[in-house]
Order: sequence, then structure tokens, then C-alpha cells
Amino acid sequence: MSATILDGAAVAAAIRERVAGEVRELAGRGVSPRLEVILVGDDPASRVYVGAKGKACAQVGIRSGTHNLAAGAGAAELASLIARLNADPDVDGILLQMPLPKPLDGRAFLDLIDPAKDVDGFHPTNVGLLHQGRPAFVPCTPAGILELLDRAGVALTGARAVVLGRSEIVGKPMAALLLARHATVTVCHTRTADLPAVCREADVLVAAAGRAALVTAAFVKPGAVVVDVGVNRVEDAALVARLYPGDTERAAGLAKRGYTLVGDVDFNAVARVAGAITPVPGGVGPLTIAGLLQNTVTAARRRRGL
Ligand code: NAP
Repeated sequence: MSATILDGAAVAAAIRERVAGEVRELAGRGVSPRLEVILVGDDPASRVYVGAKGKACAQVGIRSGTHNLAAGAGAAELASLIARLNADPDVDGILLQMPLPKPLDGRAFLDLIDPAKDVDGFHPTNVGLLHQGRPAFVPCTPAGILELLDRAGVALTGARAVVLGRSEIVGKPMAALLLARHATVTVCHTRTADLPAVCREADVLVAAAGRAALVTAAFVKPGAVVVDVGVNRVEDAALVARLYPGDTERAAGLAKRGYTLVGDVDFNAVARVAGAITPVPGGVGPLTIAGLLQNTVTAARRRRGL
């Protein structure tokens, strides 16, 4: 392996420490940031994410609460909860955990959140501001990735950046951030012709497709910086053995849990070609919650004109 490992966990820890300092500073001005999370239904993965967010808030001194609505909650009930949190001057951030159970349409409810409290950065007002290059709440995962790249000293101005994936939560905001930093950005998706060749143009490649080990060494220019956003559950022991030969720890985890988490990048093969690479786990994942904490403190400050 030749690539440098980009340690997302270390960057996330640094962001949390900075946020904790900001919380202490705000306390001196009588301000105590508060995040309210809405969870509809009982999806086990969503429960884990919501629990992790609450715990992370507590660790940096942010107040947080969870509103758990039943899976069969109606649109009116959810809309009125959002309206109540919008109107509560003591609430700085509102997070609606996705996905919502059917037939609720997530987009329609995200649109109801006050843009000043939209700490996920999904409201059209914040999306528009981001694309105009004006201060906005930036979705947490891409914001964290940008900080990771900056802290690693990756030059973005004039760089060729390729973003693999065009979702609202990762691909599109990531492309907007890289463009704002003067990279020349290409966004790829399922209809992109000759995907490996387009990705091979990249000095900075961000993979957010949700396909285990899609990005092979053939996708990567020698020396490129590769950021792997993907988190894919893989249960196929033969595939895991091929991707991670000799990795007994991973094999043991697979045997114990019945799955292992694999990124969108074939890590071992790509690490021989890339200049720098994020691992899965321990790369992008920890940055997302750190970004949420940062956005919540920023909301608390902006709402008071501080
Ligand atoms: P998504 O909404 O499913 O979007 C995936 C994107 O990738 C789509 O634009 C899709 O193209 C494209 N794509 C899928 N397969 C492709 C292929 N074979 N070739 C080219 N393009 C392909 O996913 P997402 O929400 O952005 O998440 C992406 C991955 O990141 C997932 O594994 C998710 O779990 C992970 N994630 C991790 C974090 C974190 O904190 N680490 C945060 C968010 C997401 P089309 O538009 O043409 O369908």
C-alpha cells in the first residue's frame, strides 16, 4: 500500500473539540444551543443514528431532545410538531430523521423546517444559498469531507474533482462545495458513459454511489485523493475474502454479525494507486455527526446575530 490514510475519526474529534469550545464560549453569553430530533416510526438503523446524535450532543454540551412519533403518525401530526419547534425560540436546530415511513413524503416535511434551524442543510433556501456560494447550512457529510481535505492540505483550486453520485445529501452539495473552492467538477451517476475513464481524470475523487467496491484501481489516477463515502452492508463471505485478503478482524466481524461494512471503493486495490484515501469504517462516517454539532452551534449563534 502506498496511499496516505486520511483519518476521519481524528478530524471529527478535532471538530468536536472546537464545537465544545464554542459551546463554552456561548455559555458565557447566556446561550445554550439546543437540537431537537424528530424520529417517525421504529426503523432500527434510524434509532441507532438518532441515539448516536443525542450522545454526541451531550458530549459537547449541546442540549438535545427526541420526538418519537408512531410509524402510523399522520401528516398533520408531523407538520404541527415541526411548526411548534419552528416557533419555539429556545430551539436552535431541528433534524427530521430520514427515511420517513410510507406514505409520508420526506421532501414535503423537510420543506416545512425553518431554514434558520435547518441544521441538515436540506431546505431549498439553504440548498439555493449553497449553490450561490453564500453562507448557508451545508449538509453535514460534504461539509465534513471538505474539512478533512483542508486539514490534509489537499489543493482544490484548479484541481479536477469527480463526484460519483448526485444525491441531495452527498453528491450535489459536495459538487457545489468543490466548485466554490475553484475545483473543476464533474458529477457522475448511473447514466455516465465510461465511468472508469471519467473518474480517472480526477485529482480528487469522492465516491458516494452506495455500491460496495464499485471503484476499482482502474477508476483512479495514480496519486489521486480518494474519499469513500459509501457504507454498504456486505454479507457475502467470498466477496469479503476477495476484498480484504488476510483481514482476520474483518472476517471475524462478518462471522459474528452476519455482515461487514464496505465502502464504495475497493480499498486495498485502490490504496496501491491513490496518493491518499479514506478507510471504511473510520473515514467519512465520523465526520457527519461532527458536522451536525457544528451546524447546531452555528444556528444558535446566527439566530442571535452573534
Ligand atoms: P443515493 O441517494 O442512493 O445516491 C446514489 C447516487 O449514486 C445516485 O446519484 C446514483 O445515480 C449513483 N450511482 C449508484 N450506482 C451507481 C453506479 N453503479 N454507477 C454510477 N453511479 C451510481 O445515495 P446517498 O444517500 O448519496 O449515499 C451514498 C452512499 O454514501 C451510501 O452508501 C450511503 O450509505 C453513504 N452515506 C454515508 C454517509 C456517512 O456519514 N458516511 C452519509 C450519507 C451517505 P442515479 O442518480 O443515476 O441513480
